[in-house]
Amino acid sequence: MGWAVGDGRQINAWNDPWLSTSRLAKPMGPQPEHSSELKVADLLCSETQEWNMAKINQEFPFNAEAILSIKPSKLGAPDKLFWLHTKDGVYTTKTGYAAAVEFRDEQEEDKPLKHLNSNKGVWSLKTAPKVQLLLWKTLRGALPVGEALLHQHINIDPLCKRCGELESITHLLFKCDFADKVWEETPLVRRFDRRGLIDLEATWMGLIENPCLPPVGIVDGQLAPWIIWAIWTARNNLIFNNKICSPKDVITKAIVAAKEWLNAQNKEGSKAKIPRAQITVPSHSSIIQTDAAWNDATKNSGIGWIIKQTGETLSFQGSAKLVSSPLVAEALAMHEAVKKSKELGLQQVIFQSDSAQLIKALNSMVEPTELYGIVADIRISCLHFEFSTFCWIPREKNSEDDRLAKQALCIVSGGTTT
Ligand SMILES: [Zn+2]
Repeated sequence: MGWAVGDGRQINAWNDPWLSTSRLAKPMGPQPEHSSELKVADLLCSETQEWNMAKINQEFPFNAEAILSIKPSKLGAPDKLFWLHTKDGVYTTKTGYAAAVEFRDEQEEDKPLKHLNSNKGVWSLKTAPKVQLLLWKTLRGALPVGEALLHQHINIDPLCKRCGELESITHLLFKCDFADKVWEETPLVRRFDRRGLIDLEATWMGLIENPCLPPVGIVDGQLAPWIIWAIWTARNNLIFNNKICSPKDVITKAIVAAKEWLNAQNKEGSKAKIPRAQITVPSHSSIIQTDAAWNDATKNSGIGWIIKQTGETLSFQGSAKLVSSPLVAEALAMHEAVKKSKELGLQQVIFQSDSAQLIKALNSMVEPTELYGIVADIRISCLHFEFSTFCWIPREKNSEDDRLAKQALCIVSGGTTT
């Protein structure tokens, strides 16, 4: 759990080693009875997903600042368990043993899907994190398709751009003629009935684990998740860029991406890094450079980013309060830059930062606990781009952003910078 979304777990700051309260001081004295049932969701405003100041001040007056410095996901990132005794939140037996001595063991309850273990069906699949996120959103009914936007009263054409039927998730990914043709021609071992598909969760494992036929060459991973990803990408391309592609194009794109990712895993061992040499960068990509300045005393941060497109450079500035570390400040800068790029309708984007730690977090499966909500939102936002990548650049190449960030910090701090 990452203080990420309105989540069903209780806040057991008193005895729970799995809670992401790494910077929260242990409360003193016994746990008040009325707060024993308190959940993270109770501290968030249900509409905005922002922290509820009044409630925090009432329940955790001494930890308010530490809680407010945790930046929860606003785009509905899944809850995630963090092990408090390591920096990246990943469990190790050594720290587990130490904690077991110190804490009593408490059973964790995951928030399950109705018919499906989301760990098995999504998170432990051998596929890219961006694909896992997409699958998770698909299963949760959280993809922003026409039907969902209609329910949210968002004024947008809710119909499928290909056939004119209401665009639901199952329509888009399986039932639409276009999707049907994609699945029909995808080289999978088992046929499955797409038109009759009613309960996606119930049929999920059979669909996702459907092995790929030789000679495609995807042996130790699955192709189906990448097909879903490619159908989604093709849909966005059609809506936002008027780009038309055939079912064959979708399948090719899925196979290429799947093989590229699997090859990278085999080369890099278990770490999910994308080797730079393997990425084919589209020639018209916009370059976005971000930077942040942070003041340890005030916990204020100034952020700056520039967007370089053919012939023009746009500069932006912003600020954030209650920022717990320079790394969080860098991540917030990146998040703002990603949001702005999406707003400007950019499609091919290269994001650069001089924070090696941030770039590493964005390119791997595991991020430091304090970045979870922000990095998850960045990944979700990046699903909108046709192409996006994150690269590290040396500090001297980032001087313009550095200046913007420091200037922004100066404004927010009333004149002091670090
Ligand atoms: Zn359709």
